Amino acid sequence: MSKGTLELRLYRGAFTGCTELPLRIYNTASRSIEKLVLLESGKARGYVCGPTPYDSMHVGHARTYSFFDTFVKLLRYLGVKVDLVINFTDIDDKILNKAREEFGPESYRRWREIPERYIREFFEVSSRLNIDPATHYPRVTDHVEDMVSSIEKLVSSGYAYVAPDGSVYFDVTKVSNYGAFSRQDISSLIAGARVEPEPGKRNPLDFALWKSWKPGEPWWPSPWCPGRPGWHLECVVMAAKYLGVPFDFHGGGLDLVFPHHENEIAIARALFGKNILARYWVHVGLVTVHGEKMSKSLKNIVTVQEVLSRHSGEALRLYYSMTHYRKPLDFSLEGLQQAEQLLRTLYAAHDYLLQLTREARDEQGEKDSEVLTRCYYFENQFIEKLLDDMDTPGAVSTIIEFARYITSTLIYVPEKVSKTTCTTLLQIYTELGNILGVLYQTKLPDIVIELVEEIVKVRSRLRSEKKYDLADSIRAFLTNMGIYLTDTRVRTYWTIDRTRVNLPT
Ligand SMILES: [Zn+2]
Repeated sequence: MSKGTLELRLYRGAFTGCTELPLRIYNTASRSIEKLVLLESGKARGYVCGPTPYDSMHVGHARTYSFFDTFVKLLRYLGVKVDLVINFTDIDDKILNKAREEFGPESYRRWREIPERYIREFFEVSSRLNIDPATHYPRVTDHVEDMVSSIEKLVSSGYAYVAPDGSVYFDVTKVSNYGAFSRQDISSLIAGARVEPEPGKRNPLDFALWKSWKPGEPWWPSPWCPGRPGWHLECVVMAAKYLGVPFDFHGGGLDLVFPHHENEIAIARALFGKNILARYWVHVGLVTVHGEKMSKSLKNIVTVQEVLSRHSGEALRLYYSMTHYRKPLDFSLEGLQQAEQLLRTLYAAHDYLLQLTREARDEQGEKDSEVLTRCYYFENQFIEKLLDDMDTPGAVSTIIEFARYITSTLIYVPEKVSKTTCTTLLQIYTELGNILGVLYQTKLPDIVIELVEEIVKVRSRLRSEKKYDLADSIRAFLTNMGIYLTDTRVRTYWTIDRTRVNLPT
């Protein structure tokens, strides 16, 4: 590859060691799209609120983790190192309720089996969705001491108070701009607040930092009473421990803006005196079903496991990317099927390109420079879509355009492109797909390749002998197996349907 063509790749690895990135992202804190400027050159630190592992993950949760995976992959593509923390809220009322339901009087001894089971499922789902592992997955129960010492600080500085039962509450009136982040009118919130069964609370918006022990519940020691930490505190304590304060981006589902993130910010202000816990607050829109929020009472929860029992993880990833992350996503089977169709197009281009590469000649081709220019154009356009507030639908359109260029133009002129050019194209095309969490099933077992190649050759011979009936029956047999053919004057290209065949990789 000449130097001239190399320079056409504008973004890949170009921001190693930089603080200012070309990425613009919507910041919930300012309610505007901002340029991403890192606190430390060449390194981004982020925290995404993780699951409370008491039940199977639903398609709304998976949308959030899939989005942040693409976000992190884009940063890495730009040359930025990323430290990502996702926590597990492995002690919570919901976990204890589930343990009581399942284990009855045994729940005191066995409650940990609940978070263990769903954390395991979280990792299985993450892997099927091609989500890269986070740098750290801290658990609340491993950090109780850190939380107790933070609460002690908050009590001694007057931001928190101890209720008669030994619970500790954060006093929201002590931070001057409580409600500013989520743009809530605090007085109307107080008026509308439900009266919760927490008699020691001074203000309905105050929230528990420490919950006193109740019979049958697990507990940890503290200066106030045996008990366990409250939810909002954990993220602040664990983010500070693993990332330092402030850090670059903090994310989660849109439903976490209030009260969870508002409360995290209030705690961080009180603990560290910093105005904001993270610079950029990024929230992913909710997933609805027939326009309604998924909820247990409506019995309309779609779990990721259910979807993955009938569809590939890559189809689900592509489906998520087809909607902008800030928009609500109304989950539908039709949408998922549309994503599967696009995935077939993406894999057809990949497979054809692989076959083209295998047979391409070593010497320079007449169209090399033109083809590479097109390829870099697609690459830059794809990245520019993502740099514009993570326009994944735009990125999907670009990679589909790239795929169509391969399947409708390139494969018809195999003698005009060199092996080197084909290899570059294949590598860039796959790399772009990977940013969206797709094109991971690219390696086919040698035996499958040899077998299909042999059948295709037999069919070609039959066609040249004008035995079309037999040739057609071979095509029909292959189609039935999920193997689709495209005939050109030079050769027959083939692709295997990854949405229905679970191939070993
Ligand atoms: Zn959180």
